[in-house]
Amino acid sequence: MNEPAYPRSQALYARACQVIPGGVSSPVRAFRAVGGTPLFIARGAGARVFDADGRAYLDLVGSWGPLIAGHAHPHVVAAVTEALGRGTTFGAPCEAEVTLAERVTAAYPGLEQVRFVSSGTEAVMSAIRVARAFTGRDLIVKFAGCYHGHADHLLVAAGSGLATFGRPSSAGVPPAFTACTRVLPLDEEAAAEALFAREGGQIAAVIIEPVPANHGLLPQRREFLARLRELTAASGALLIFDEVISGFRLARGGAAQRLGITPDLATFGKVIGGGMPVGAFGGARRMMARLAPEGDTYQAGTLSGNPVAMTAGLATLDVLEREEGWQRLEALGAELEQQVQPVLATAPFPIHWVRCGSLFWLSLHEAAAPRTAATLGAGGPERYARLFHALLARGVYLPPSAYEACFLSLAHSRTDFELFTHALRAALTELT
Ligand SMILES: *Cc1c(COP(=O)(O)O)cnc(C)c1O
Repeated sequence: MNEPAYPRSQALYARACQVIPGGVSSPVRAFRAVGGTPLFIARGAGARVFDADGRAYLDLVGSWGPLIAGHAHPHVVAAVTEALGRGTTFGAPCEAEVTLAERVTAAYPGLEQVRFVSSGTEAVMSAIRVARAFTGRDLIVKFAGCYHGHADHLLVAAGSGLATFGRPSSAGVPPAFTACTRVLPLDEEAAAEALFAREGGQIAAVIIEPVPANHGLLPQRREFLARLRELTAASGALLIFDEVISGFRLARGGAAQRLGITPDLATFGKVIGGGMPVGAFGGARRMMARLAPEGDTYQAGTLSGNPVAMTAGLATLDVLEREEGWQRLEALGAELEQQVQPVLATAPFPIHWVRCGSLFWLSLHEAAAPRTAATLGAGGPERYARLFHALLARGVYLPPSAYEACFLSLAHSRTDFELFTHALRAALTELT
């Protein structure tokens, strides 16, 4: 009688659950926040993903950010294939990492040197180590709702994966490991000023997602970020922009360029790997010179600067530059906004549109234009779960959590947006 809706995905998930905790390699993928079992993706092309059962979906996840050129972009695939033929890793310097470092430093405000790692988590861990070494101070300040990867000392009030599971923090992190972490609310200059008045002389760095995109999308007032720039500069602390999502997505020079605020250190991931495991962190030469072998601050990686991954990043930047990518992404975001807003107005429950460039969030929380994680209000996740499944059944793949932003790519088209708005209208009617 009850045929499984996605027989191949469900069979794979059952196998996965035997040998992988929760059946997934990263928690939000498991659909726990929306119910049901995850789709197993067999392949992607442009703006589409195809599941193990052969169904096609309009993809608004984009692997959570890296796929700014779309799935399997021919230029990226050709470059990576060619690089693969020359060998996958050497554990020695290669030209591609120098070229990518030149491109990244040329693009990002204030950046003189970068070092490559294999994930955003590692980029943040390493940037913080540099900040502590450079300042000779221990305290790190982060903001509630911002996610900076899963390093122990930053797993405090840390965004979607943790919000999804209603946990303020994580087991397995000794209190001593977070004793040097201070958590502030977003959007409140006064709270930051009070902390600096109290402990400013011990603060090594303030780290923030300049466009917070891991607890829904919580765009900040420019004045707030400018105040953080002033407070850090005045006290000798460093300002770190975590641009793992926003870097090379919101502009060539990331959120820093968009906002006209230059941090001391910046971290990158997602887009700069073009879909391969890459992270990077960088800043002024005098700060980065603290790193071994020049300085006394250790940081390393067997696969760091991997030639194939560097090539994927370079090819993705090529596509962005050749196709006037950032302008087109902004235009695509605006176009989608225009199509979606009249549909949202017909919704039987609160549903808010938040957008920054090619990032957008369908918020089913009460708050209309939230700037902090604390003010979202209740009911959002339950409503989102119903919308998620109503759209999935209509061939639209949204992130499986009410707290995740959606990502547009250069592969999305006006036709895709028509499909999306049509599906959205039908889904909302069904849910009324
Ligand atoms: C994704 C993300 C990270 C962590 O990157 P991983 O590659 O998943 O380790 C860090 N910071 C921000 C802002 C992110 O969005």
